[in-house]
Amino acid sequence: MRVVAIDGPAGAGKSTIAQLLAARLGVPYLDTGAMYRAVTFAALRDGIDPRDEEGVAALARATNIELAPGRVTVDGIDVTGEIRTARINSAVSHVAALSAVRSIMRAAQREWVVARGGGVVEGRDIGTVVFPDATLKVYLTARPDVRARRRVAESGGDVDEIARSIAERDRLDSTRSDSPLATADDSLQVDTSDMTIEEVVDELQRLVLEKERSDVGR
Ligand code: C5P
Repeated sequence: MRVVAIDGPAGAGKSTIAQLLAARLGVPYLDTGAMYRAVTFAALRDGIDPRDEEGVAALARATNIELAPGRVTVDGIDVTGEIRTARINSAVSHVAALSAVRSIMRAAQREWVVARGGGVVEGRDIGTVVFPDATLKVYLTARPDVRARRRVAESGGDVDEIARSIAERDRLDSTRSDSPLATADDSLQVDTSDMTIEEVVDELQRLVLEKERSDVGR
């Protein structure tokens, strides 16, 4: 099964690069961040505290989250735009720190990929925990100022405010005890600050094919 794991902090270019790479390789793309965002949406909708482990986990079990290309639904309602708002941005890392929620999400992610025979999977713990045997593990990063400016170009807002919100999310994501944002020992680290999207995708595509050839030769 061909699995490419793409991890890294907010705004490093993961989504754009993962989607383009998936199209080139002819495999599906899974945005695991959208799953944590969808659960966060459901918690806020139902008035459940994003730090309430039992409450949010029970909700995650009972909620139907569907990920289709470019579209996320929660219990049949399209929440594609809603899950990218500042309200969700500031609550999602609290939900994502809950172990009981992470174990439900991990199982769903593995099931999604196995049912489709592989994929390019984007998140924070994909190479370290969800798919430790991935064909290729990539850790994408970029300088903080570049990441903030990219987010502003995508969805507007004030650069300083966005930079603060990204820094806070990264702090929470990399200091939580369950599957924190971290590089895997065998991941390839790519700083995308001074690279074009095309350059990054070309390089990753080349590495996947090279890795598969060397695995066959072994
Ligand atoms: O990738 P994105 O910025 O949409 O992710 C939103 C949040 O979901 C992250 O800040 C993180 O808290 C959580 N997340 C996670 N593990 C993943 C993917 C996302 O904890 N594999």
